[in-house]
This record gives sequence, C-alpha cells and structure tokens, in this order.
Amino acid sequence: MTRRRQIYEGKAKILYEGPEPGTLIQYFKDDATAFNAQKKGTIQGKGVINNRISEYVFTRLNHIGVPNHFIRRLNMREQLVRQVEIIPIEVVVRNVAAGSISKRLGIPEGEMLPHTLIEYCYKDDALGDPLIAEEHIACFGWASNEEMQDISAMAIRVNDFMAGMFAAINIRLVDFKLEFGRIWDGDYSRVILADEISPDGCRLWDMTSGEKLDKDRFRRDLGGEEEAYQEVARRLGLLQDDGSPSEVLDLSQHRKLRGK
Ligand code: 5GP
Repeated sequence: MTRRRQIYEGKAKILYEGPEPGTLIQYFKDDATAFNAQKKGTIQGKGVINNRISEYVFTRLNHIGVPNHFIRRLNMREQLVRQVEIIPIEVVVRNVAAGSISKRLGIPEGEMLPHTLIEYCYKDDALGDPLIAEEHIACFGWASNEEMQDISAMAIRVNDFMAGMFAAINIRLVDFKLEFGRIWDGDYSRVILADEISPDGCRLWDMTSGEKLDKDRFRRDLGGEEEAYQEVARRLGLLQDDGSPSEVLDLSQHRKLRGK
C-alpha cells in the first residue's frame, strides 16, 4: 500500500495529492487558531461541519455560475477539489462593521456600512496578513488588473448570494473572507474561487438575538463554538435534529472503529 502524498498543511486544513492530475484532496481539521496562530485550540467536530457547509455553499455557487474548485465531497472530512495556483490575496467582503475594520477606523461593531466594502490583505502569516491596496497588487504583480476585475465581480456575486441564503435562515452575513486561484489551460489562465466558505472565515450573527454563530466565539473566548457551528449547519438543513450529519458516513472513522 502506498501512502498518499501531503502537499500542504495549513491551520485548519491539509491538502493531499488527488487521484488524478490537477486534483487535490482537502481534509478539514478540528484545529482552530486565532490572532495569527497565537491562540490555538480545537473545536470538536468543526472539520466535519465545515466540510459540509463548504460543500453546500460551493455547490450552490456553481449552480449560479460562480466558478470554483469544488468537485465532490469524499467523506465526512474530505473533499475532492481542483488544484489551483493560489493568488496570495485574502479578499474580505464586509456588509457590517466588525473585527479589524472597527478597530482600525473606530467604527462601532454592528454599524451597517453604507455599501458593501471589499478589502484585500496580503496572504503572509509571518507578516500577519497585512491590509493592502489594489495598487500593491498591481505593483508587485500578485494579480493582473483583469484578474482583479474578475475577483471583485465574483466577490460581490458571492456576497449577494450568501447574504440572501443566510437571511433566509435568520442569520446576518456581517463579513467573510474569500481566496481565489488560477487554473491553466495551455498558455491561458482563469481565476476561480478556492479554499472554503464556513463559519471559520465568516461573521454570522443571529438576526433576532445578535448572537455570534462563527469563529469569533473561539477568538473572543465566548464559549459554545461547537454548538454555534452546529446551529449554522442545522439551519442550512445539513444536520439532523440530534446533531449528527445527515446522509454521510465518515469512512476513515468507520475503519478506525473497526480497527482497519
Ligand atoms: P477581520 O479583518 O475583521 O479580522 O476579518 C474579516 C472577516 O474575514 C472575518 O469574517 C474573518 O473570519 C475573515 N478572515 C480574515 N482573515 C482570516 C484568516 O486568516 N482566516 C480565516 N479563517 N478567516 C479570516
């Protein structure tokens, strides 16, 4: 038996070589980090839920024509994705002031922004993912102007779609982070949505109570992070009432339990 090759290990995910060229297996861990990995912990069951939520969102985005790397879910913690050349930019979309923009500009958390705001950060853990302007992206050649037009257009479409999707389950989409990558076809490349969309990289507030249903529960020591992630999945119809994922079998867990 050959062991599959690990391509990359990040804070919340591991990427393995996929079964065919141009594919990867994305494995979702329960590990959680915050403040540039200064705070570390685990959120029990997070990987299973994020795998499921991300599958759901990426599948639906595909249906409305937002190209993305998702191919199919393989088991409870893994999904098959297209291999992309990651663009080293975090795209943050904001509808309501919270987190770093509130700190940076002194805007009270919870204040509605006059219009949706897109911010860019340079993806570099050692530098703490600093905020950058589009001029930096052009100057250092991280993405072309054409790619940036596609990225901002896709980010707005994702926001419109997700804001509606979450509003329908009484959740306010405050902000979120996206990552994009290039796929090549001969000499030509195009940009598609990559990474994941889950409560790890979104701020989700209950519309009635204002309760936080995302990773801020972990970042801010609020407790109840497992329940919050489960609640999002449950409202999306991805969990049974007893909290177990619907229609999924965790093959690796199953094999472990059977000692294989
Ligand atoms: P902020 O800039 O306020 O810290 O984050 C804005 C939004 O982007 C939040 O929803 C946050 O979860 C997400 N975000 C920003 N940077 C990262 C990151 O490095 N990892 C993850 N998982 N989410 C991020």
